[in-house]
Amino acid sequence: ITDNRMYQPNDKSPLQIFVRAKKKINDIYGEIEEYVLETTTFITALHADAEIVDKAERELFESYVHKVAAIREVLQRDHMKVAFFGRTSNGKSSVINAMLREKILPSGIGHTTNCFCQVEGSDGGEAYLMKEGSDEKLNVVNIKQLANALCQEKLSESSLVRIFWPRERCSLLRDDVVFVDSPGVDVSANLDDWIDNHCINADVFVLVLNAESTMTRAEKQFFHTVSQKLSKPNIFILNNRWDASANEPEFQESELAKVKSQHTERCIDFLTKELKVSNEKEAAERVFFVSARETLQARIEEAKGNPPHMGAIAEGFQIRYFEFQDFERKFEECISQSAVKTKFQQHSSRGKSVSGDMRSMLDNIFERITIFRDLKQDQKNLLTERIQGTETQMMQVTREMKMKIHNMVEEVEEKVSKALNE
Ligand code: GDP
Repeated sequence: ITDNRMYQPNDKSPLQIFVRAKKKINDIYGEIEEYVLETTTFITALHADAEIVDKAERELFESYVHKVAAIREVLQRDHMKVAFFGRTSNGKSSVINAMLREKILPSGIGHTTNCFCQVEGSDGGEAYLMKEGSDEKLNVVNIKQLANALCQEKLSESSLVRIFWPRERCSLLRDDVVFVDSPGVDVSANLDDWIDNHCINADVFVLVLNAESTMTRAEKQFFHTVSQKLSKPNIFILNNRWDASANEPEFQESELAKVKSQHTERCIDFLTKELKVSNEKEAAERVFFVSARETLQARIEEAKGNPPHMGAIAEGFQIRYFEFQDFERKFEECISQSAVKTKFQQHSSRGKSVSGDMRSMLDNIFERITIFRDLKQDQKNLLTERIQGTETQMMQVTREMKMKIHNMVEEVEEKVSKALNE
């Protein structure tokens, strides 16, 4: 990778909801970890010195250290995941490339994606590939090589190839979005495996349709299975290749509007009445008419400093380009909100329960220490009383002795003076 194009951070992006929440929860867990470590050291000392804390309690505290460390590790790896489905050649890879603003995934004839491909950000400007079950980083020099690597491999259709691409090259990768491209839903009967292995933790699904035809049974079936396995999946529908429909010579503008409204109605019905995953209003915000090929082309031009419409793009491009951007905005809002909930809600309640448990254990120990201290104080008081009693007794004795001596001296003096007189 020789291109040094850097993507300027966009702090207004809805993805920042996730980015900031991730930072915040990681910071909080950092504090919890410090607190747990400090408390464990203190508890261990209490166990060793005064035996106020028993072995089981000490071990329980130590288990919190491991628990918190494990959660922190998961948290650092958490990301937002979007998975793309649809028939072969509908343009799934092209949509991903358009969103990434670069031709990363091979697309087109001869480059059918025949396994799952995951694109995720890599640190340190490196681009490489990793196959399922191997830690080996296969260097990727360019897209051609990547395409060949994917084609030559005899990969099973439900296996996964991970493509690591420099984060700085794309805001979505920088903000922890992971893309999953799938083989066409028309090629597989293993929908269950697909969903179990690659989709269970997806925050958003994108169904990429070919706007030139109607939704097929295979495409519908796939999403029926998804919605049986996941409660209320977030599904967006892209009617792709809209440029081709819009430029059909025999289509009048009115006919095109009719086709668009028919597609829209079918897609909304699919989401609301068939899958029952959205209400009408939400579904209407999830159906788009786009051209991935044009968008990618426009973005490649923009990156070179040219206007997006450069490269003689077909009529209506601007509207389709806006619609693609609108899709991206709604997609970003949806994925970041959904990921915050699914990824962090559980961790935040576990964090609360760990700190709650520790607090009640510490309260308990504190109570025992107070009782112990009071006991010591009582013993001390008793001892003081005894000492004071002894002191009074001593003084009494001393006083009596003094009196006796005094009397004796007086008596002796009297006797002596009497004897002298006599
Ligand atoms: P996939 O198999 O679903 O991943 O589809 P690809 O992204 O590989 O696209 C298949 C072919 O359709 C490629 O030749 C693309 O250039 C082309 N294609 C993708 N999107 C569009 C589009 O929006 N308009 C047109 N005209 N062609 C497209």
